[in-house]
Formats: sequence, structure tokens, C-alpha cells
Amino acid sequence: MNAANGRNDVVVVGGGQAGLALGYFLARDGRRFTILEAAETPAAAWCARWDSLKLFTPARYDGLPGMAFPGDPDSYPGRDDVVAYLTDYARHFDLPVELSSRVRSVRQGEAARYLVELDDRTCEADQVVIATGPFQVPRVAPVAGRLSPDIVQLHSTGYRRPDDVPSGPVLVVGGGNTGYQIAEELARSHEVHLSIGSRQTPLPQRILGRDLFRYLEATGLMRRSVDTRIGQRLQYRETLIGSSPRAARSQGIHLHGRTDDVSGSEVRFDDGSRLQPRAVIWATGFALDHSWIDVPIFDDGGRLMHRRGVTSAPGLYFLGLTWQYTRGSALLGWVKHDAEYIAGEIARLAGQRRPRT
Ligand SMILES: Cc1cc2nc3c(=O)[nH]c(=O)nc-3n(C[C@H](O)[C@H](O)[C@H](O)COP(=O)(O)OP(=O)(O)OC[C@H]3O[C@@H](n4cnc5c(N)ncnc54)[C@H](O)[C@@H]3O)c2cc1C
Repeated sequence: MNAANGRNDVVVVGGGQAGLALGYFLARDGRRFTILEAAETPAAAWCARWDSLKLFTPARYDGLPGMAFPGDPDSYPGRDDVVAYLTDYARHFDLPVELSSRVRSVRQGEAARYLVELDDRTCEADQVVIATGPFQVPRVAPVAGRLSPDIVQLHSTGYRRPDDVPSGPVLVVGGGNTGYQIAEELARSHEVHLSIGSRQTPLPQRILGRDLFRYLEATGLMRRSVDTRIGQRLQYRETLIGSSPRAARSQGIHLHGRTDDVSGSEVRFDDGSRLQPRAVIWATGFALDHSWIDVPIFDDGGRLMHRRGVTSAPGLYFLGLTWQYTRGSALLGWVKHDAEYIAGEIARLAGQRRPRT
């Protein structure tokens, strides 16, 4: 039920997969809620990714609660398939998503309510869920600013297709899934160099004909939480799915160490090698930005304090953070577990506050 401009039981900030998955449970529970989405179109984060992106999770594990991802469960959907699925999902469940509604601040109001401020209005809510994504502000290495202006520089969010990259040597910085996927695509048309800061453990996409995630599910690894010893270890270990340094070399990609320094148009790496690239693509990840949340739930270092998305401010939650609870917390097919948990916490608090008759 939509109550955008009136009193809301719940305001959800962010209409990506996390916000939609939560919306499913809030609708099921009959709450008055709205989902405020900054972008003008649905699935904005996915629309901002490169054209040829293929999911590393098969369709079997790409569905949100209540609606399977269409197509062969063993296939790997592309970017536009995800955009279509998320758009259909919101429509199918008639979720109250308000586009072009960037939230500028969230703060505590009177009577245990929250004030959610947009450019043109303020709405009130008993409870608020921040689902603004794990990947918000594109991060580049500090040396980027000192590189000669003759060199074309893009963050991975600005890369769409090989035609957009000038011919000549291209340096892709970042040895994660994004860096490898972009480097492999560019290697078909460009001379490509990949700078790898820290090596991630390469895992095959398929083992004995079955997708990796079927094994991770079957062994229970996808559900190991940050409260377990293995979860605590895994949350700091990035994995590279379906790519490896050896496979990259076999595609003609030149591997370098960490990007250390630049001087004019030359880039230096910590293995002693050097390169004068024509273009640099920074696949160096993202930072979070929660500076607009004016509630004391951050530690002295500005880090969010929460337990499975529940903060110390009653009624204020997060959803969709990387390793919020498990490896699956920020993935399409597993975010539903945290979403259902947060919906349960919302119900519990609403029940406690309801006046007794
Ligand atoms: C390159 C790449 C490949 C990936 N591949 C896979 C994969 O194969 N399988 C998989 O399961 N996962 C994958 N992921 C991880 C994950 O599924 C995505 O990052 C996903 O987009 C996260 O969903 P989300 O809803 O948490 O956040 P987002 O999709 O980022 O959605 C957050 C929404 O909040 C909105 N927003 C932000 N700030 C505000 C504000 N102040 N007010 C209102 N709205 C706001 C944004 O516009 C956005 O629409 C991949 C991620 C990346 C970066």
C-alpha cells in the first residue's frame, strides 16, 4: 500500500533488488510503505554497467522472492535481462516505487518517527530501511589526478563497449571480476594490460558440468554468516569467478603488479614494469556514502554499526550491504533472506508500539 506523502509505516530508500525484495515482504504483511528511488528509470545500477556484462550467478540463483528469473536456470543472464526482470518484478507485485525521488537526508523526528527529506518534500515514517546499494561512489587510485590529460580515463561505471575506447594500449586497473571481464572483452580488439593489486582466489564458473554456486549452496557455504568462524574469514577474501591470470594471459592480456605511481603519461607498477597507455579504465571498486544519514549509528571512523542490518536506532535498518550477514547478502538470489529478516524486525517493532486494547 502506497502512502508516500502521508504517514508511512515504512519508507525504503533505494529501489534496486534489495529495496524490491523487501517491498515484496512489506506488501505481504500489509504495511503502508513507499520505495523512494533516486533514478528516473528502474534498475538504475544495472543500467549503468557495461553492455556485454554477464552475471556470474546462473538464472537459477537470480530470482527475488516470489518470482523465478525467466529462462534456462543454468544460463547466465546479461545486463539487460536483469533490467527487464527487475522492472517486471516491481510491476508484477505492484510495488509502490517512486522514481526521481532522491532522499537528501534521514533524521529522527518526534514521537519515535523518522523524517525523510527529498528536494521537494519531507515524509514521515515509523521505520526506514536504507537499501541504496553496496556500490555507490566510484573509487579511483589517488594517482589518477596526476596522469597526463592526453590519456583517456574512465571508471568501470563509465565503460560501455570496446568502441568507446581509443585504439592503442589500454590499461585496466583492478584484478577483480569487473577488471577481468572488461580486460577480456577489450583483448579482442585492443592491446590490453591488466594491473592486479591483490590476487583474488580464482574459482571456476563450472565444475564437472555444474555451476559453482550449486556447490556453494549444497555445502551450506552461501549461508555461513559473519557470526561463524568461516564467515569471518571469507568476508575479507574476494573471489574471482570464471577468470584467472593464466586464462587472461592465454587471451593475450599483459599482467602487471599494483599501479604504484604515474609520471606524465607513464604508469609504473610495483613489479618494476612501466607502460604508456592510451586509455586507463579504473575497475577499482566503490565507496559507500551514508553521509546524508543524520542519525548516530556510525562509529568514530564513520563506519556503520549494525547487526544483520539492524542498527541501534530503533526502526532504522540497512539492506543489501556486502556481507551484511552472508556471502549472498548483496546477491540477487540470496538478498531475500536478509529482506525477510528485516521485514520480521519491522513487524516486531510495529507490534511492540501498537497500543494495547
Ligand atoms: C559489475 C557487477 C556485476 C555483478 N554481478 C552480479 C551477479 O552476477 N550476480 C549477483 O547476484 N550479483 C551481482 N552483482 C552484485 C549485486 O547484485 C549488484 O551490485 C546489485 O545492483 C545490488 O543491488 P542493491 O539493490 O543492493 O543496490 P543497487 O542495485 O545499487 O540499488 C540501489 C538503488 O538505490 C538508489 N539510491 C541510491 N541513493 C539513493 C538516495 N539517496 N535516495 C534514493 N535512492 C537512492 C540507486 O539509484 C539505486 O537504484 C554485481 C555487481 C557489480 C558491480
